[in-house]
Amino acid sequence: MPYLENLQLENQRVLVRVDFNVPFDKEGKISDYSRIEAVLPTLHILLEAKAKVILMSHRGRPKGEKNAEMSLAPVANGLSEVIGREVKFASDCVGAVAEKAVSELQAGDILLLENLRFYAEEEKGEREFAAKLAKLGDVYVNDAFGTAHRAHASTAVIAEFFEHKAFGECMRSEVESVNKVLYNSEKPTVAIVGGAKVSSKITILKNLLPQVDHIIIGGGMAYTFAKAKGGDIGNSLVEEDYLDLANEILQEAKSNGVEIHLPIDSVNADAFSNDAQINISSIMSVPQGFMGLDIGPKSIKHFHNVLSFSRTILWNGPMGVFEMSNFANGTREIGEAVAEATEKGAFSLVGGGDSVAAVKQFDLDDRVSYVSTGGGAMLEYLEGKVLPGIAAMG
Ligand code: AMP
Repeated sequence: MPYLENLQLENQRVLVRVDFNVPFDKEGKISDYSRIEAVLPTLHILLEAKAKVILMSHRGRPKGEKNAEMSLAPVANGLSEVIGREVKFASDCVGAVAEKAVSELQAGDILLLENLRFYAEEEKGEREFAAKLAKLGDVYVNDAFGTAHRAHASTAVIAEFFEHKAFGECMRSEVESVNKVLYNSEKPTVAIVGGAKVSSKITILKNLLPQVDHIIIGGGMAYTFAKAKGGDIGNSLVEEDYLDLANEILQEAKSNGVEIHLPIDSVNADAFSNDAQINISSIMSVPQGFMGLDIGPKSIKHFHNVLSFSRTILWNGPMGVFEMSNFANGTREIGEAVAEATEKGAFSLVGGGDSVAAVKQFDLDDRVSYVSTGGGAMLEYLEGKVLPGIAAMG
């Protein structure tokens, strides 16, 4: 993969695709700076090399229309606070306004362009729109792992207009981390797969089977596996259409020499509510009228044990309904076990979906090796798909 060190950057107009689709709170303040912070390593390299930095991103889903509520202007201010220097802002991402703003840049300046998705052409991946963007730079850098699974104008189509192009440092660490887990791992490798549904994780499970030694399954999807094995799961979440596939996965694991660890016990509730009545049972015999919303203490102990001798860990998806305090314990404890294994020298990657929210909620993000910034992109990478944003640079 081409990286920044392969490029001549001094005085060059470097057009960088970033993922500044950051969340805002009700008062209109940025509530999580992770995606801004993720781009800092790239920015430091570009500034040190005295490049003219032009950043482009999307924010939200404006569906091809200008929408002040989805402007990137407040993100320019947020970046400026984080990086401690001025960040200029152009109120359009193409055309005269953008071109003028770019022409006024000095070496070492940073400019953020307005939301790319104010143009429908961006998501349609239109070549002409990509050409208009490409006019703004001499060099193209893709540092937006979060949108690498989209074949949009600024993430993929644009690459063909540049002779000089590279991946940024955020993209580099995302790809290197996941490759380390999938293809270059120190054994034993453990994948923890949780979340609501088997249907959304089935491709990941299949893709992981040849790569890992153990798979821990938790969350809502565990109940489909329990039912497939003949268990009584009460009112727990189940995907009847996936019972056969669940059995197939169990068989395939056996023939691949992969140990699948299902929960032993389940924390059950008589309603999907934090105020519900609770009991604990074997996952194979959830009482009538109850639904399983978290893994129980025996499961935690067993999973903890598996994780304690692991050298590489991938974590995708929570162990229970961690958004409700009464069903957060399993996810918190497994997070703690991942952190402890990391402290003993294992490499741990948390990525793709709600497990990232969980490690943040439980303050574990600094105790694991790598937390991915790209939800959907990480899921597709784990599924074994070629991401258009990566393929386009080849
Ligand atoms: P996913 O986006 O597929 O990773 O699923 C994450 C969601 O799964 C979270 O919102 C959890 O609350 C939910 N979840 C986890 N365990 C269960 C469960 N036992 N029953 C229902 N939903 C669950």
